[in-house]
Amino acid sequence: MTGASVKVAVRVRPFNSREVSRGAKCVIQMQDNSTCISNPKQPKEMPKSFTFDYSYWSHTTPEDPGFASQRQVYLDIGEEMLRHAFEGYNVCIFAYGQTGAGKSYTMMGKQEPGQQGIIPQLCEDLFKRTVDNASPDLSFSVEVSYMEIYCERVRDLLNPKSKGTLRVREHPIMGPYVEDLSKLAVTSFHDIADLMDCGNKARTVAATNMNETSSRSHAVFTIVFTQKRHDQMTNLDTEKVSKISLVDLAGSERADSSGAKGMRLKEGANINKSLTTLGKVISTLAEMQNSKKKKSDFIPYRDSVLTWLLKENLGGNSRTAMIAALSPADINYEETLSTLRYADRAK
Ligand code: ADP
Repeated sequence: MTGASVKVAVRVRPFNSREVSRGAKCVIQMQDNSTCISNPKQPKEMPKSFTFDYSYWSHTTPEDPGFASQRQVYLDIGEEMLRHAFEGYNVCIFAYGQTGAGKSYTMMGKQEPGQQGIIPQLCEDLFKRTVDNASPDLSFSVEVSYMEIYCERVRDLLNPKSKGTLRVREHPIMGPYVEDLSKLAVTSFHDIADLMDCGNKARTVAATNMNETSSRSHAVFTIVFTQKRHDQMTNLDTEKVSKISLVDLAGSERADSSGAKGMRLKEGANINKSLTTLGKVISTLAEMQNSKKKKSDFIPYRDSVLTWLLKENLGGNSRTAMIAALSPADINYEETLSTLRYADRAK
């Protein structure tokens, strides 16, 4: 990371069975931190090349030299963000990309050994570090919440009984927040894992023509981590509070490419609006950081519920990482190129 506050990674997954059965061709190539994409319809055209903080090749088998495992992705991105959280920064990691490109795999992963994504690894590491750093003068507390933003409305994933949507409000000092969102105190990784499981089951998923379990909502998992230190000399307590937001974004595919109609089309428009706003917020912040400009640029946080709620995790005293998930297949060329462009603007 070159001093900028947004760290950007891309990751290409293996072919899925549908792609294999259709004889799909891989249009992505990676070398070091650069990623190239070739247009399958224009083989003579020069591949388009992009450079990111990390280009993760997860397309072939783990035995392949250069293959990026779940552990590798966590160590590069999750661990760094966790370190910033211990330093007192707010942090945000989000996964962007077309449905089926590997966002949930990267963020959540699977239960099997070696398949856990960033969120469970980060939570496990968080508790491990609190044990490692334990001292009589230091105490830690951890609270989690899990919400879903669907068509600009917020739903509590940890309280499925709270039907309906929650109000988004603004605290004069703490900033935007969701009224009545459950915040549960946890004392171990197992507590968190259980809550995540319940939340994931409660998450709205709706079928589209792209993938029958495609997710049309943003899932925001938030950990509020407080470190309290007691100074024996002065007898004073100091508190460092950091908010860690881990976001699995809705699929970025354009509504028209999934054959959406009616409600689906409305969903698509809302999703695109929040993803476009997120892109604008991040690129404005990145420009401000890169040009060391003063905070005079207008940052359109308020244009979507997602960016409004992430305000304290994106700008100011925060560190952000984005992982863009890529399909390797020629049939997804257009969507993959637009994901690469989105990621490129975030740098
Ligand atoms: P998304 O969340 O973007 O819709 P998923 O994470 O559900 O996509 O990924 C779609 C499928 O591809 C899942 O079966 C997932 O396990 C698999 N997959 C995605 N990324 C990888 C990867 N890096 N390695 C192995 N399998 C992957």
